[in-house]
Amino acid sequence: MINYIKKTYRGNKESFFKVLENNLINNNKMFIVTANPETFMKADSINEFDEALMKPDTTIVPDGIGVVKAANYIGINEIKERITGVDISYKLLELANKHKKTVYLFGASKKVIELTVKSINKEYPNVKILGYSDGYIENKDDVFEEIKNLSPDIVLVALGVPKQELLIYKHYNEFLKGIFVGVGGTFDVISG
Ligand code: UDP
Repeated sequence: MINYIKKTYRGNKESFFKVLENNLINNNKMFIVTANPETFMKADSINEFDEALMKPDTTIVPDGIGVVKAANYIGINEIKERITGVDISYKLLELANKHKKTVYLFGASKKVIELTVKSINKEYPNVKILGYSDGYIENKDDVFEEIKNLSPDIVLVALGVPKQELLIYKHYNEFLKGIFVGVGGTFDVISG
């Protein structure tokens, strides 16, 4: 558990958003895990999930207040506030709108994902949604094959922990660019 806390991004939301913008503009690849204490507990018991979190180029951010508190308790005071999957998703959409970037959305029910697409098209007119899929499709690797062919700038995956992270981790090396984020229940929020 402590390894994950030590590896968690040290900085506030504002500084993290600057990292996001810089990476988006420069087409730098990124894998973001939005973590709460349950995330770390699951990683402690699933080998591959542990590997995914500990990979040097995986960025863990403190989604849950429990992660912020645990970090402060062990003396890491640069971790000051929550940076949630919802925060990151809205910021990435705002940045994609500003810089005319492309997005792929994967996860949630058919109804929720369709409403999410509608809402994004309305609120972020410069964002190009290259494709989307609900999260109950049987072969999820096929969806990643499609994502690979489309090569979007941003890939939001909402399948719950650890499904979303394990899938991103499995396919991450096949991509030359893209900001990949496991966003949990975010589409349920965006869809309204
Ligand atoms: N989900 C999905 N496919 C699955 C399981 C879950 O698309 O096989 C979706 C679910 O509809 C919800 C999201 O994944 O939109 C998970 O949200 P939840 O808040 O449960 O995730 P957590 O971040 O708490 O793990």
